Amino acid sequence: MDKPFSYLVYQKGLRFYQQSKVFNLSKNLNTIEAYVNDDQIYHVKLVFNSNKQLTIKKCNCRLAKNIHECGHMAALYVKVKQESLLEQKVDTLRDLYVLMISSKPKPNIYDYVNFEKRFLDNLQVFQKEKEFEKVQTYLEELEKLTYPVNRRNYLVQGITRAISELYHDPTLQDQMSKWIIHSLSLNRFQDFQMTFLDLLSEKDTDDFVIIADSLLANPSLRENESLCNKLLLMIYQKGVFSLEEFKKKYQRMSQCEVIVYLTALELLEQRSYSKVIELISNYHISHFCYFKKEIEKIYKKAKNMQNPREYMHEIIKKLYWHIPDMTAFKEAKNQLSDVWQSIKFDVYDELSEKIRGNDFLEFILNENEWEYALYDLETNGSISRLMVYDRMLLKYCPELYSFIVSDVIAQSFTNAYCDRDYQYCFHGLDRFRGKLTQDEFDYLIYYIRKINQNNEYLIRELDEMEATDELSH
Ligand SMILES: [Zn+2]
Repeated sequence: MDKPFSYLVYQKGLRFYQQSKVFNLSKNLNTIEAYVNDDQIYHVKLVFNSNKQLTIKKCNCRLAKNIHECGHMAALYVKVKQESLLEQKVDTLRDLYVLMISSKPKPNIYDYVNFEKRFLDNLQVFQKEKEFEKVQTYLEELEKLTYPVNRRNYLVQGITRAISELYHDPTLQDQMSKWIIHSLSLNRFQDFQMTFLDLLSEKDTDDFVIIADSLLANPSLRENESLCNKLLLMIYQKGVFSLEEFKKKYQRMSQCEVIVYLTALELLEQRSYSKVIELISNYHISHFCYFKKEIEKIYKKAKNMQNPREYMHEIIKKLYWHIPDMTAFKEAKNQLSDVWQSIKFDVYDELSEKIRGNDFLEFILNENEWEYALYDLETNGSISRLMVYDRMLLKYCPELYSFIVSDVIAQSFTNAYCDRDYQYCFHGLDRFRGKLTQDEFDYLIYYIRKINQNNEYLIRELDEMEATDELSH
């Protein structure tokens, strides 16, 4: 059957094929089956012999029953010939894609998942058999494939893994290096460029710098600012050049965002915050592409460090009064560790007014801010706060402990207005008594009497307490 279809039927089939009416194709050895979408859907089956000649053709349409040929059969036949489906084993990416996805009228999620599974399985076989060329072909084909953006990453990851594995095979590394360098120099395979660079950076420092320099000389690569900057950053991170040497060597590069970035980093480390701000403002943050995020961070940090009190004020402003999330506050505190000592009293005073009392005290305790606790007791000394801070004070400033306790209790007696206040003071006195030595306690009582000597009520209560003490001893 050299010409298996009559002229008119063949033309009809060609038209069906061109209108993409053949779908759901499946192939088993020399048997190929598919569906053709005409006035209704027809099932077609063609069988070829080992010489690729058509030996059996079947279709379930009426015409086929009568004259043993039809446009549907011809359509599949054209597809088989045009796409060389007999010649190829189904292992190129395109075949796989046609077979499992594009031949279906409405590919669904399972078609994609099955395709990806096959794709990854095949890659594993290539990897096992060290068939780098096949991985390479897959990668090249992937570039041309129209694939849903959100799923494409699975394929990219699969190839990335295979490339990284194979690259570490000593028998393949030279060949692969050449291919990687060549691809980079042409700015090809953008999804894989960062992987390529990472692999190249495993080379000896000297070799890497030579390769990187030769890559940077390529106009196509220079068009890709991100790649350029990443490459420059990698050179710098190899530590061969000081920042000055580096700047000098690469100043000819037109897109030297990396240099601004590194300079800003250095200035930030030297705490020259106003210089950081000036440098970045001159360049305009919006002009950055590769380092945009990092530069924004550096800029913000410099601004914050320049005015830390304002920075903390902004953070406190955003806190919710009840069960506040203190994460941002803690991060800022960390960042401002250099100046924290000088601003913390003001900051905590503001914080204490913003959030609920218990949340505030709990935070002071958790952060072990005993110096603030001392300051707090000195300014708003109350026995209830003393009870909260008690353990922390004992732990962090034991040498001051008895002094603070005595001071707060004495102050509380002096500030007391009503019976309830006095009761609370006596309660506190009782509670802290065991934590003071007898001498300290005696002195505290003496001191309270002394500064309140005109307060008859208090003196009487103290007399009574001491009388009870006498009795119990
Ligand atoms: Zn038919």
